[in-house]
Amino acid sequence: MAKFLEFQGKEWLRKSGLPVPQGRVASTPEEAKKIAEEIGKAVAVKGQVQAGGRGKAGIVKLVNTPDEAAAAAAEILAKSIGGNPILQVLVEEKLDIQKEYYCSFVINGAREARSPMLMFSAEGGMDIESVPEELLFKINIDPINGLQTYDAVDVCARAGIPAQDLSKFASFLSKLSQTYKKLDCQTLEINPFVMTGSGNLVCADCKMEIDNSSVGRHPEFGIKIARDLPGAPTELDLIGWSIEETDARGTGFLMNMGYDEVSPGYIGYHPIGGGSAMMGLDALNQVGLKPANYADTSGNPVGSKIYRVAKCVLSQPNIDGYLLGGFMMANQEQWHHAHAIVKVLREILPTQKPGLPCVLLLCGNREDESLEILRDGLADLMTPDGPGKRIEIYGKQYVTDTKFIGQRLLALSQEYRAEKESQGK
Ligand code: GDP
Ligand code: MN
Repeated sequence: MAKFLEFQGKEWLRKSGLPVPQGRVASTPEEAKKIAEEIGKAVAVKGQVQAGGRGKAGIVKLVNTPDEAAAAAAEILAKSIGGNPILQVLVEEKLDIQKEYYCSFVINGAREARSPMLMFSAEGGMDIESVPEELLFKINIDPINGLQTYDAVDVCARAGIPAQDLSKFASFLSKLSQTYKKLDCQTLEINPFVMTGSGNLVCADCKMEIDNSSVGRHPEFGIKIARDLPGAPTELDLIGWSIEETDARGTGFLMNMGYDEVSPGYIGYHPIGGGSAMMGLDALNQVGLKPANYADTSGNPVGSKIYRVAKCVLSQPNIDGYLLGGFMMANQEQWHHAHAIVKVLREILPTQKPGLPCVLLLCGNREDESLEILRDGLADLMTPDGPGKRIEIYGKQYVTDTKFIGQRLLALSQEYRAEKESQGK
């Protein structure tokens, strides 16, 4: 899912006419200070990461002066959460909170519902998982007619909102519901939204996730990749996405895994299918090798798609090998893979990576023909001194033998490293 950070989600809420605190995002303590000066009163400084529980993790800080805002920003920007550095803080007016509430709009996929659903609780601010079930109130939303005022009133009344506030809550939730639909959200969680001292409802937090399939309808979001990513997309991610985006036949997935391009032991990783990818990682892990990237060419992709993925995998700098990991009896015709791999290796090995270890495991439908295509197509490179001298081709006898495949890759990659070092490369 394409997820927005809090400040981005709040921007879209603001544009849709919902009440959000005044504020902006900063990437340095100096900027944070400047924003706090503009706001001219106490502010909240909030680290922008895709994670809940920021309050507890010390990355939401409430401060009284611009200098304190700078100090809080410096402290938060020095942290990272789950390996992802915090690059930005949201600096916004501190709210005068009288009470915190919870609401979220999600898709209820249950067979009898298949509709959006509103969840509401008067217990806001904490993890929704820790709110007792009986204090969380749910209602399905008609996908065509939207959240009806009487339903919103009903859910709020059940949650104990006093009668005089019901219409205020119902109109707030209706507006959110319309925004949820208009922006094609998958999830919109406001935890907490708060009642201020002056009796206004304000969105104090925002978790917004857009339905991947709708991203094409929303160029205004500027989402480059309609997919769940740990951080900003890398060049490899963008290329991978362009392969998927331009050809819907089968899967041609490619994703960065954050390899550092200088350390030894990274293998260009090209598994076929999800289960197979797990086994391929076993093969690498067992012998201390690491995947440079993640990939997947399954679901019967055409040869051109496999070719593009393999070319990207093999083009990564400083890899010590390439693993085509078909650890499964695939029902897709494997000769598409064979043709694609022959073409790529003929392009890459002689000029760019002579001697690169390439362990090719391919099993399943049309296996014999596929292995023959690989052997025939690469034979002239696989001579003892040829650029394909470390190509090894395996079929169904090795389909579950992660240990053997790992050991072959390790032996070949050590040989390759030693050879490169002796040539001073
Ligand atoms: P989360 O812990 O990652 O979900 O971050 P939130 O944005 O929900 O913030 C956690 C808690 O900090 C909220 O439940 C509030 O109690 C408090 N908080 C956040 N923003 C403000 C603010 O502007 N003013 C005040 N007084 N408290 C805030
Ligand atoms: Mn929250």
